[in-house]
Amino acid sequence: MPLVRQAPSLHIRQVLARALEGEPPAPEEAHGLMAAEGADLYALLEAASALRDRYKGRVVTYSRKVFIPLTNLCRDVCAYCTFVKQPGEAGAHTMTPDEVLAVARAGRLLGCKEALFSLGDKPELKYPSYRRWLQERGYATTLEYLRDMCALVLRRTGLLPHANPGLMTEADIVMLRPYNASMGIMLENVSPRLLRPGMPHHRCPDKVPARRLETMEAAGRQRVAFTTGILIGIGETPQERVDSLFAIRELHRRYGHIQEVIVQNFRAKPDIAMWDRPEPGLEDMLRTIAVARLVLQDMNVQAPPNLAPREYRWYLRAGINDWGGVSPVTQDFINPEAPWPKLRELRDVCREEGFELRERLPVYPEYVHRPEFLPDGVRERVQALADATGLVRRELEGPY
Ligand code: SF4
Repeated sequence: MPLVRQAPSLHIRQVLARALEGEPPAPEEAHGLMAAEGADLYALLEAASALRDRYKGRVVTYSRKVFIPLTNLCRDVCAYCTFVKQPGEAGAHTMTPDEVLAVARAGRLLGCKEALFSLGDKPELKYPSYRRWLQERGYATTLEYLRDMCALVLRRTGLLPHANPGLMTEADIVMLRPYNASMGIMLENVSPRLLRPGMPHHRCPDKVPARRLETMEAAGRQRVAFTTGILIGIGETPQERVDSLFAIRELHRRYGHIQEVIVQNFRAKPDIAMWDRPEPGLEDMLRTIAVARLVLQDMNVQAPPNLAPREYRWYLRAGINDWGGVSPVTQDFINPEAPWPKLRELRDVCREEGFELRERLPVYPEYVHRPEFLPDGVRERVQALADATGLVRRELEGPY
């Protein structure tokens, strides 16, 4: 990607110099950075990269995981979703306990430490047949079933669950917490405008931003190390992206629990309502990652490598310090057309860019030695796997 190595504008230089001294840009300054091009964009990336180096060094992390799509039924209808199915549709499926265990065991054999449970949001409120399926097994809600599947995986395989089931009340979080090393929900975007007719979250009751922020806040009160992030290219404005980053930062300031912020790019696929919408280009992605680094400073910033297979090395130059979960076993069920790069390739790309790739747990190093963030049933397992820095012990890292 050609970038112009010339002098950036005076204003950009001043904003970046302050950010490098630990003073993040104000919202209106960050809005301005979202228009950076040419020399200004080059300077923005350099500043973000320098900040990452200062706070995180030259170690980039990933979590070795299996993906457990517990159910692909959902009551929402996001216009970019390929994961969701309706009961009776080809591919609609809710995993049985045996299926869950089989995936987790396969992961364990290949050195995985994380079981990522990703699933649709409250399908029992929409589909009577699914409600009956749950009731026949003694459950009133998907989240009760999820709790037992997290407990099963933790107990029988030692993989550390990370639940990502959509909106959760504080009571839901309390119920799931004993069996999860961390949990998450993508904020996606803080703008309620995206719920209007013709927008991607129209008729998606679980995508109301205020409710997602409530879930994140409840996780903070319950001391859960929490993953969130933004989804870019779904019809939001650059300013709304930035406002979403500030909303996440504000919650982290209050509770200190946001363990990572994902910057995820929309991918157009033939079978989604947004099939003809443009995808964010590489410069757009880099600009957003770099602004995230400046706004979030020492927080962990992640971008998934499988959604830009030819270009992801550039993310390192924009300030990320993590690749997210990478699976040697399961495909990315949310983006099934986008396989993860081989771990060896990821390691080699990191080396070529001057970084060391290290394995982390689903709970980030910052929280590994803070007992208040680790439930009793999880703490022992985490500490058996982690070294003094909170990363996976070198001798236990999975093979490349
Ligand atoms: S993106 Fe998530 S909430 Fe939206 S339809 Fe798909 S599974 Fe449901």
